[in-house]
Order: sequence, then C-alpha cells, then structure tokens
Amino acid sequence: MVTSRRSFLKVLAGVPALMSFPDLSRNNFLSNLTAPGMKSLRHDIGMYTGRGGTIGWLIDKDAVVIIDTQYPESAEKFVAELKTQTSRKIDFVFNTHHHRDHTWGNSIFKPYADKFVAHQDVPVLQEKQAKEQKDAPQLVCADTTFTENWRTEIGSEIISARHFGPAHTGGDSVVHFEKANVAHVGDLVFNKVIPFIDPNGGGSIRSWIDALEKLGKAYSKDTLYIFGHSNSDEGCTGSVQDALAMRDYLNALLEFVGSKMKNGETKETIIAYPAIPKFEHLIARWEGAVKQNLTAAFDELNAK
Ligand SMILES: [Zn+2]
Repeated sequence: MVTSRRSFLKVLAGVPALMSFPDLSRNNFLSNLTAPGMKSLRHDIGMYTGRGGTIGWLIDKDAVVIIDTQYPESAEKFVAELKTQTSRKIDFVFNTHHHRDHTWGNSIFKPYADKFVAHQDVPVLQEKQAKEQKDAPQLVCADTTFTENWRTEIGSEIISARHFGPAHTGGDSVVHFEKANVAHVGDLVFNKVIPFIDPNGGGSIRSWIDALEKLGKAYSKDTLYIFGHSNSDEGCTGSVQDALAMRDYLNALLEFVGSKMKNGETKETIIAYPAIPKFEHLIARWEGAVKQNLTAAFDELNAK
C-alpha cells in the first residue's frame, strides 16, 4: 500500500500544476465554480443566487436537476456556467411556483432539459400571469405535474416534491434531495425579509402558516434549507428555525390586523401602520411591502 501510494505521489509530482485530473467520485464532480452567486452546499447540490428566486441545482455525472429558473438574463449566465461543468442534458427542471422570478428563465433552459416538473396549478397560474404582464417571455410550462407528492430516483439521489397546500401561491412545492437532505422550499420562506403575499396567485396567509407547520414536521433537524429570497446570499440557506420564524411573522401579521379590526379601526388606518410589532427588523425589499401585507391580511380576515 505504502509503495503504491508513494509511486502515485511520484507520478503526481511530475504533473504540471495546472493540469487537472478528471475526478468522478461523489462530492467532487464539479471543477471550480466561477459564476458570482454560485455555491456548492452538500454532495453535488448547490445554489445560485443570481437575480430573482434562488436556483437550486444537482450537478454530477449521473444527474443534472435544476430547481427554478429566475429571469432570462440570469438563466443565461447559469447555463453558461453549467456548460463548463457538464455535457450532460438536464434531466429535469422543477418550478417551485409560477412567479416570474422563478419561471421566466424556463425558455433558456428548455433546449437543454428533458422535462419540466411542477405542481398542477403552476402552468395555469403561469398562463394567467403571462396575460397580466405584457413583457412576459415565451411561456414554457411543466409537462409533468402532480397534486400532492412526486418522487423520482436519479443517479445516486432520490428527489421528492411535496405540496403542503396553498401558501405563498396556490401551487407551491418543496423539493427535497433526500440523500443529501437538502430542501428547496421556493418562496415558502423569505428569510429575514418581508414576504410577498399573493392572494391573486392563489396564496393564503392562514394556509401558509399551516404549510410551514407541516414543513417543520416533514423534514429532519439536519435538513439544510434553500430559501427563495433573503437579505443576503448567506441567508439563502438556513434551518427549520428560519422556516418557523416565517410562520411566526405570518401569525403576528394576522393577529395584529385582527386585533385592530376588533377595535373597529378602518382598513385605511390599519394598512397605514409602518411595521408589524416584534418584526420591525425585517427588511422591506420593495416599496410598500408592509402595506401590501397589511392589506392582504385585512382582506383575508374580512372575507371570513
Ligand atoms: Zn414567489
């Protein structure tokens, strides 16, 4: 053993420093990732922050899987990086939900992808969204859909998707890389930032709270979560505690608005509050984020 190791090192020593060995062992498939925002996480799974909802990826010699596609420009940057890492076709692209910052890059991935997967409501909501937004690119929708659960084995990984009910939208999925124990939760979690609530896209605050409760029980304490949005690249990953903090915010939002309604305050007064108590630290990433959430909460409570 010692001799063979020595001779191997001797061979290595004679190799110019810049020459790289193809190493197809698990965990070491990728050569240097150079695109800004590209980061390896566990096994051959990683994320790309780019612009829009965080992309999750699995890239190894037996499987290429992409979760969400951002916008065309950042999708192009991602695909350019992907091509430097593998010549393999994308086995499937998964859309965690229909929002443009998670699906408008679909057309860029289309020539390289065998199939697109999403919850059954996603294509319907994509079409609705495309009609409402004039600058929408070519519509590429899932050809493979499911209602509650979807699971597949690919290469050395098992990937399962779950729909925990309406939440951020009507068609949210959580995609779990079971062996690596990494879960991409789409926009079920806006980590440390004020979330976007979308009743027009089938979202519901109450149901979102339930979905996060279910999510918290569905995976283990070691699960590494990828979040659709955060205050920083580092914040795009985290633990179940971050998911439960999102639940706590939504609970606080409903409680706050509900208590004001009970006091007889008008909608106009309620939606003018500057922050939700105990969640003043959350960052607003767009103008009017707090007002939007107060309005969504008022309308949802008022409808009951
Ligand atoms: Zn979204």
